[in-house]
Amino acid sequence: MKKLLAIALMLIMLVGCFAGCGASNDDTLIMATNAAFPPYEYVENGEYVGIDVEIATLIAKELDMKLEIKDVEFGSIIGGVQSGKYDIGMAGMTVTEDRLKSVNFSTSYANGIQSVIVKNDCPYASYEDFYTGFDADGNPKGVVEGIKIGVQQDTTGDIYCSSVPAEWGFGEENVIRYKTGADAVQALIEGKVTAVIIDNEPAKAFVSVNEGLKIQSTEFANEDYAIAINKDNEELLKKVNDALAKLTESGEIKKIVDKYIK
Ligand code: GLN
Repeated sequence: MKKLLAIALMLIMLVGCFAGCGASNDDTLIMATNAAFPPYEYVENGEYVGIDVEIATLIAKELDMKLEIKDVEFGSIIGGVQSGKYDIGMAGMTVTEDRLKSVNFSTSYANGIQSVIVKNDCPYASYEDFYTGFDADGNPKGVVEGIKIGVQQDTTGDIYCSSVPAEWGFGEENVIRYKTGADAVQALIEGKVTAVIIDNEPAKAFVSVNEGLKIQSTEFANEDYAIAINKDNEELLKKVNDALAKLTESGEIKKIVDKYIK
């Protein structure tokens, strides 16, 4: 009898875990994000707000589901979506060839730019001046001694900057990775890095609240933001794309973007 009770208990615990531990609880859409990325996702008065948060709320509504937000490290979002821990990853996330090997992406709902933040008195007018010169094909030969670039770890800014100069990076040795964009900007203020390369909208937000910083006029890269979804969940991908199409058509997405980006 005791044995039976123990087995029954184990079964109950297992079922409970399936319902509670995994992502796909039928009526809850679990969104993984990194809420330190204004104006896409950030915390205000103890609440998650921002473009992604509002779009995800509308998508969940379209899907007749309840949205649950998990604030995690940016670098753990793709893995969590891939393992089924989260239903969607939405974090101003750029579509890249490499990420597409691990997850599917919805249709893109926004454009991103990698911008260069420097101090007002920075002697370099453009990131191109961080290089020592260019070869016959026009690619950088090397990086000026002493140049250090701050990035938010695991982002496209980090990936591009960490590649070699010949591929328009600055070399691993000249890149310092920070947990958040705000930490990278703090390092710039303290003179630990020459520049921070990060998505344009958070760059604008950081510059507006910190005196003595500016964004260089040359864009470092141009990219598309989309929602990451598990490769095996084609059904959710379709539903999310349908919802995005509907919300774009009705003007809802533009309304949200215009509210946050002036
Ligand atoms: N767009 C960048 C990326 O996808 C940064 C996103 C972020 O920091 N939330 O890597």
